[in-house]
Amino acid sequence: MKRILVTGGAGYIGSHVVKALGEAGYEVLTYDNLSTGNRWAVLSGRLVEGDLADRERLSRVVADFRPAAVMHFAAAIEVGESVTNPLKYYRNNTVNALNLIEVMREQRIDRMIFSSTAAVYGIPEVIPVAEGAPLAPINPYGASKMMTERLLADLDQADENFQYIALRYFNVAGADAQCRIGQDYKNPTHLITRALKTALGQFNQLQIFGTDYPTPDGTCIRDYIHVDDLAEAHLVALRHLGAGGRSGIYNCGYGHGFSVREVVEAAKKVTGIDFPVVEAARREGDPPNLIADNREIVAALGWKPRFDDLDYILRTAWDWERKLASRQG
Ligand code: UDP
Repeated sequence: MKRILVTGGAGYIGSHVVKALGEAGYEVLTYDNLSTGNRWAVLSGRLVEGDLADRERLSRVVADFRPAAVMHFAAAIEVGESVTNPLKYYRNNTVNALNLIEVMREQRIDRMIFSSTAAVYGIPEVIPVAEGAPLAPINPYGASKMMTERLLADLDQADENFQYIALRYFNVAGADAQCRIGQDYKNPTHLITRALKTALGQFNQLQIFGTDYPTPDGTCIRDYIHVDDLAEAHLVALRHLGAGGRSGIYNCGYGHGFSVREVVEAAKKVTGIDFPVVEAARREGDPPNLIADNREIVAALGWKPRFDDLDYILRTAWDWERKLASRQG
């Protein structure tokens, strides 16, 4: 399992996994159309600029590289956009995944790690939410990922040679400790990024979306996981498949959460900046509380998180945001 094809390896999460793969001695080929990713983010191996919709090119790349496994990150990820432009999500996240999986099958590449999301659960009834909970996505983003999960599960049933791991990400944040890579979205919507960019003066104020949720302080609770711990989850998943392990679906989170207000307070403390915050209406489609039951990935794959610390997540993200700002400014 030494050669790994990574789709979306120039993106936020993909690039941290490419870094970790390189450090662990894997040979990596990143396939990325650079629509949201960046060439500079690929710290290990080769980058081929290509689209998953371009099946001929993808086929040639896979045939030349002969990866032992494919890690599939390339996807569209904005919940709000998925509501207004659902077809983009079904094309990118479902149809293009099918393309990739078909190319893999044609060429007998039968190990895959798939980036899924806690959004497949919709509004879970039980918190922390376990992998066996009902799948009931409340937006096209979650639905497009759920459909790919289903496709993988069906293929897994039909073909005993095929093995996959789907990782359901909770709220991924933070950046490389050496500040080489981090989140760089054109349209940042995530809480931690918005808070830090507000501290830098790039936004006038941070809005808290909804203060009347059924939570202790009225704001939504999320399970924030450092991107390097998430990268490590991919490495343990890869080792599991390499050792002949079975297919599986695993939550990636720490098993506890923070409210929006708690994140805002921590961001003010870490930055030392008392940035403006206003209370605003609820954002559509936000579940009040989303926390991972992570016992499966710990027990079955031996995942050991190292950065379960909101201040560390914020510090690495803050260093990164300041670096981005100085580069742009
Ligand atoms: N949020 C907020 N203000 C912002 C961005 C996000 O209050 O500017 C809230 C959002 O409503 C949710 C939580 O922060 O309750 C986490 O949102 P984020 O977009 O970071 O991740 P999501 O959980 O939607 O994937």
